[in-house]
Amino acid sequence: MSKMETMKALVKTAKGKGLIEVREVPVPEIGDNEVLIEVKAAGICGTDLHIYNDNFPYWPPVILGHEFSGIITEIGKNVKDWKTGDRVVGEPHTLACGKCWLCRTGNRQICPEKRSPGWGIDGCFAKYMRYPEPELLHKMPDTLSFEEAALVEPTANVVSDIFERGALKPADFVVIIGPGPIGLLAAMASKAGGAAKVAVVGTDLDEELRLPTARKIKSIDYVINVNKEDPSTIVMDLTEGRGADLVVEASGSAPGIASAFQLVRKLGRITAIGLTGKEKIEFPYDTGMFKAVEFTFNLSTLYSSWDKSIHLLDSGKIDANILTTHKGGLEKWKEFFSDLENKKGIKGVFFP
Ligand SMILES: [Zn+2]
Ligand SMILES: [Zn+2]
Repeated sequence: MSKMETMKALVKTAKGKGLIEVREVPVPEIGDNEVLIEVKAAGICGTDLHIYNDNFPYWPPVILGHEFSGIITEIGKNVKDWKTGDRVVGEPHTLACGKCWLCRTGNRQICPEKRSPGWGIDGCFAKYMRYPEPELLHKMPDTLSFEEAALVEPTANVVSDIFERGALKPADFVVIIGPGPIGLLAAMASKAGGAAKVAVVGTDLDEELRLPTARKIKSIDYVINVNKEDPSTIVMDLTEGRGADLVVEASGSAPGIASAFQLVRKLGRITAIGLTGKEKIEFPYDTGMFKAVEFTFNLSTLYSSWDKSIHLLDSGKIDANILTTHKGGLEKWKEFFSDLENKKGIKGVFFP
């Protein structure tokens, strides 16, 4: 790759709200231990919207995006395990120190030194991406399309938070609060993981697109709009008065979080995915205590989440296509970001 070559990239240019633009930037050069990836598809995450709104850490100027699939086009001279032409997805846990207690206990995903693509180092909303730690890549099966594979990272979050930390069990009655991309992925993953029944809860604001999509997804047994029906009555009726075994909180809203405590059974589990974007929120602590609920906070993914996620998408147990409402080039970012924020879209994928 010649030094003079440039590419288009979606860049957060400085600290503050907004401050995103498509820029012409140099194609990155790689070091001896790194690979260069031609990005084929890149998913827009809630994190990208949080960075747009200035409520997630980032080091500008930085190319946004961490959910990618692509092809290795160049390898550093010390890289042995990969070759050009390999189709890959990659974990975002780059630049973890490898030395701290978290790293040494196998938890590099929350190492304080970690700087992920898309906020800590340049990300995947560009034609090429320098990827510094090839051991974090995973090979894509040939049967999985790049567009579908752009959803491996968010699916890996759901796998980690529901299977690995939320302890989904066969025949569980699962309630998902929040029918956004993560909630709908969680619904499909729960059914694939053995849930007996899956209910998804949303509001009138989700009626434009998200709840109608939920009604089309076969893995989802019940779709509840809280502005029209009382989810507690429905869930209690369906569970002989016990409540849900597992509640997946994917709304990040105070009323959603409060309702998780109403809907969960005694000794049940709540697993939470995603941020509230607020410094503090109120929640019914004593209800949780009286029910002896297990509440799990989650951040990011484990190495083990990735191959499971790839399997769920490749086998069609998770249908990525029904969630991808927006796809196109980087120049569409304004429209895509605004639609996703205003619930007029579910998942957006760029083809940079
Ligand atoms: Zn993400
Ligand atoms: Zn560390």
